[in-house]
Amino acid sequence: MNYRGPYRVRTVQKPMPEILHPEDAIIRVTRSCICGSDLHLYHGMVPDTRVGSTFGHEFTGVVEEVGPMVQKLKVGDHVLVPFNVACGKCNFCKQGLFGNCHESNTMATAVGGIFGYSHTAGGFDGGQAEYVRVPYADVGPTVIPPDMDPDDAVLLTDVVPTGYQAAEMGGIKEGDTVVVFGAGPIGIMAARCAWFFGPSRVIIIDHVDYRLEFAKNYAKCEAYNFKDMEDPVVFLKKATDWYGADVCIDCVGCEAEGNTLQTFSGRVMLMQAGAATAFQWAVNSVKKGGIVSVVGVYGPPFNLAPIGNIVNKGITIRANQASVKRLLPKLIDHVQSGRLNPKGLITHRIPLEEISDAYRLFSSKLDNCIKTVLIPSTKH
Ligand SMILES: [Zn+2]
Ligand SMILES: [Zn+2]
Repeated sequence: MNYRGPYRVRTVQKPMPEILHPEDAIIRVTRSCICGSDLHLYHGMVPDTRVGSTFGHEFTGVVEEVGPMVQKLKVGDHVLVPFNVACGKCNFCKQGLFGNCHESNTMATAVGGIFGYSHTAGGFDGGQAEYVRVPYADVGPTVIPPDMDPDDAVLLTDVVPTGYQAAEMGGIKEGDTVVVFGAGPIGIMAARCAWFFGPSRVIIIDHVDYRLEFAKNYAKCEAYNFKDMEDPVVFLKKATDWYGADVCIDCVGCEAEGNTLQTFSGRVMLMQAGAATAFQWAVNSVKKGGIVSVVGVYGPPFNLAPIGNIVNKGITIRANQASVKRLLPKLIDHVQSGRLNPKGLITHRIPLEEISDAYRLFSSKLDNCIKTVLIPSTKH
């Protein structure tokens, strides 16, 4: 796939990727997904998204070729590849902060490298392709257990770890009320994973009815449409005896709908990096001393954050890109034991060649789309 500018992607024949560093591998892609965060790229919201680049940070594939320094991966291994590009050796990787690797994206001080996520995230071509170059091949790529469905495996590259980490960062305690903003795949997974921590209620808020319906069934949670409410903050206060939720999780990010000031200043005037509406709601509807966990994607420059309320309520904000590699052993176990069913999120399978239709379908929320898997025609 090839980015041609906002709202324009198409398939083109690009040169075969090559080993550029002795620790690289070339992977023949068997599955790749379109992520909600790819829509921020598609809509032209992410700085330095260059024409000609290939998106895709959620993919599985078969190792085609390895560089001379690669020791663990073998040609023919079927692997899932975490969305983070991480060196495995720097100070941050050593702490398990694989999303904040210091080496894989030396132009940035915040985020590490991410496959197919603009030059802001290192300029790596992604996996919505037939072949992809994977740096630090001994660090990220993980052999798919033989009894695991590749559809489950591809969702372990981002959706499951990001949803799980969103819940984990919320510090959910027994009996808590958890509110998740955003019923995209990540929000639905966060709501599902929240139950691992023993809350008494999990509530999800969105404005797309079919997604709320899906979330209610998949994550066994309460689901409400904010378009039906005068004010979601008042609604949530009322629902929690006026205390506020114990934990709020923002799985929306910078393209939130629903608040005129935020939308106008962020998405129309571009005075801030998108509209931080979901984050505002999270801060305003969490209880005093509560925790707000953020995994929604925001652009780096700046957003209008309600700092007064954060200070006066004594809120803890926890946020990060998921550290996929750190979480994988636990999450593979959850999938193998049947406690998690990631592939249940997949609603569409589309040939890679039809990429522009696939983006349009997902971006416009047509055909009750939750999660799309792209299948390259070279698949085996
Ligand atoms: Zn993703
Ligand atoms: Zn590193």
